[in-house]
Amino acid sequence: MKKLEMKNVSKTFYTEIGALDVLEDITFNLNEGEIIAIVGPSGSGKSTLLNIISKLIEPTEGEIYVDGEIGYMFQRDHLFNWRTVWKNIMLGLEIKKEKNQENIDKTKELLTKYGLIDFINSYPQELSGGMRQRIALIRTLATNPQVLLLDEPFSALDYQTRISVSNDVCNIIKNEKKTLIIVTHDISEAISMCNKIIVMSKRPSTIKKTYNIDYDFDRTNPIKSRSSKEFMEYYEKIWEDLNDEK
Ligand code: ADP
Ligand code: MG
Repeated sequence: MKKLEMKNVSKTFYTEIGALDVLEDITFNLNEGEIIAIVGPSGSGKSTLLNIISKLIEPTEGEIYVDGEIGYMFQRDHLFNWRTVWKNIMLGLEIKKEKNQENIDKTKELLTKYGLIDFINSYPQELSGGMRQRIALIRTLATNPQVLLLDEPFSALDYQTRISVSNDVCNIIKNEKKTLIIVTHDISEAISMCNKIIVMSKRPSTIKKTYNIDYDFDRTNPIKSRSSKEFMEYYEKIWEDLNDEK
C-alpha cells in the first residue's frame, strides 16, 4: 500500500537577493513499512524536502500525497527549556488529546529502553546533546505516527551510541510497521537501516540515484554486518556518487 507519493516536485525560494532553485522534479513513492534514507550534499534541499512532505512549506510545482499521520523530528531538537523532559515528551500527546494511560505506559517503556527514565524531571538544558536528541525522538514516537520523518536524528550522538540507537530505531520501526524517511550524512547508517537510498545531487537538486538495499543485514550484530562484503560494495558506490557532487 502506498503511504507517500511525490510527483514532479520542485521548489524555488524567492528572497531579496533573488530566486534560489533548490529542488527540481523530484518523484518517488514509498510503500507501507518501507524505510528510506536521503543522502546528499549539504544545502541540497534535504530538509526542504521533509518540510514539503510535512506540509510546513508548499512546493513551487508538483504534488504530494501522504496517507496517515506524520511524525517529524527536526534537525534541531526544539525542546522547551522551561518544561521538564516528561512535559516536553507529553506535549505532542496533549496537543492531540491522546494523553491516556496506554500512551503514557508506552512512552515510559521507551524512556526506560533509552536510559532516560531517571531524567524525566530534569530540564533539557541540564542534559547532553545526545540525551536531548533521544528525548526528541521519543516525543516523536509517543504520538504513534504512521509516517516518520527524521532529519539527521543521530548527529549529536557519539559513534557507539549512534550505532546502537539507530539499530534500535530500525527494529522499532520494523516491528511497528511504520514508514520512515531518514535524512542522514552517514552512509553506513543509511545502508544498515534502510530498504532504499535516494542520493541527491547538488543544488538545484535532483534524484541522482536510487539504490535498493536487497541484502538483509544482521541487526543483532550491527558492527559485524558493517564489515561484510555486501555492505562495503554499497558503501563505495554511494561514496563515489556523493564525491562527484562536491
Ligand atoms: P539540506 O538540508 O540539504 O542541507 P536545506 O533544505 O536546509 O538543505 O536548504 C537548501 C537550500 O535552501 C539552502 O541553500 C538554504 O539556505 C535554502 N533555504 C532553506 N530554507 C529557506 C527559506 N525558507 N528561504 C530561503 N532559502 C531557504
Ligand atoms: Mg538539513
